Amino acid sequence: MIDLAIIGGGPAGLSAGLYATRGGIKNVVLFEKGMPGGQITGSSEIENYPGVKEVVSGLDFMQPWQEQCFRFGLKHEMTEVSQVTKEGKNFKIHTNDGKVTEAKSVIITTGGRPKRTGIKGESEFWGKGVSTCATCDGFFYKNKEVAVLGGGDTALEEAIFLTKMCKKVYLIHRRNEFRAAPITIEHAKSNEKIEFLTPNVVEEIKGDQNGVSSVVIKNTQNNEIKELKVPGIFIFVGYDVNNAILKQDNGNMLCECDQYGSVIVDLSMKTNIEGLFAAGDIRIKAPKQVVCAAGDGATAALEAISYLDSHK
Ligand code: FAD
Repeated sequence: MIDLAIIGGGPAGLSAGLYATRGGIKNVVLFEKGMPGGQITGSSEIENYPGVKEVVSGLDFMQPWQEQCFRFGLKHEMTEVSQVTKEGKNFKIHTNDGKVTEAKSVIITTGGRPKRTGIKGESEFWGKGVSTCATCDGFFYKNKEVAVLGGGDTALEEAIFLTKMCKKVYLIHRRNEFRAAPITIEHAKSNEKIEFLTPNVVEEIKGDQNGVSSVVIKNTQNNEIKELKVPGIFIFVGYDVNNAILKQDNGNMLCECDQYGSVIVDLSMKTNIEGLFAAGDIRIKAPKQVVCAAGDGATAALEAISYLDSHK
């Protein structure tokens, strides 16, 4: 029986691991299917983490996080969790290697992933000009032209956000109509820095060793091909939360989730199930930033410490 299982080793999980072990919980295991670090390790640059002045790659940025946690006794099980169940007071962590580990408390930090389009060049330049976060990467394109792909609320809101630092934003969408809220569409249409390119699809993202250099688009009405010389494209075609491990044999989720599958938590990162916490991009209304995920992880660990203390 372990005291605390943390599932997912991104910024939320590692931060939870640090606070839990340093906070005196003896037996804390981080279940992470790969090397710890999370989504940010796929980014070539991060420059918005407070206190870190240099622009570093996501991989370099996350390396000390795990070293710091392991120093305080966090154990890493490099295995994929398939399901979390609760029987009586305790939880069962089922892993893909067929093992079942019992835990007194659990913090879920399995994060999520922006949906990919499969467009030629998307994978090659992912994190090198292909971005899914204007808050994270917009500043890298200060006074430059960029493209945004998508037709929902996120795409339009992020396009508007990008106009604050970019010279011009090309908004590419396959239809002439947008799914976003009417007021958001109105704001975007009245923004003179946004050029609407509809109905268009992206055929290819081109670039070289320095990253993206252009985006090839095709008008689906007249088949006209155009090449936009932009160093960046922001893709907003949806987001999947990694919540599959919460699915129970009867089809229900272990705890309450919203319509998008994000775990519902209160400000202490508590779910509606005693002893079960969720932190980072998996939780409702997550700002999807490293600093926020790290803060959530610390909060969840402090709550787990209180929970374990009161259930001795
Ligand atoms: P994640 O980082 O998603 O970590 C979840 C972890 O759980 C992963 O390591 C995964 O392997 C593991 N996992 C999932 N399921 C299982 C399972 N079943 N069993 C075991 N392990 C599992 N944010 C910023 O603040 N600044 C930036 O500049 C920035 N740039 C970004 C660039 C890119 C390309 C991307 C994709 C994201 C960027 N972000 C940035 C967002 C940031 O990375 C996320 O908000 C943050 O990583 C969320 O942390 P998390 O710990 O909640 O989840």
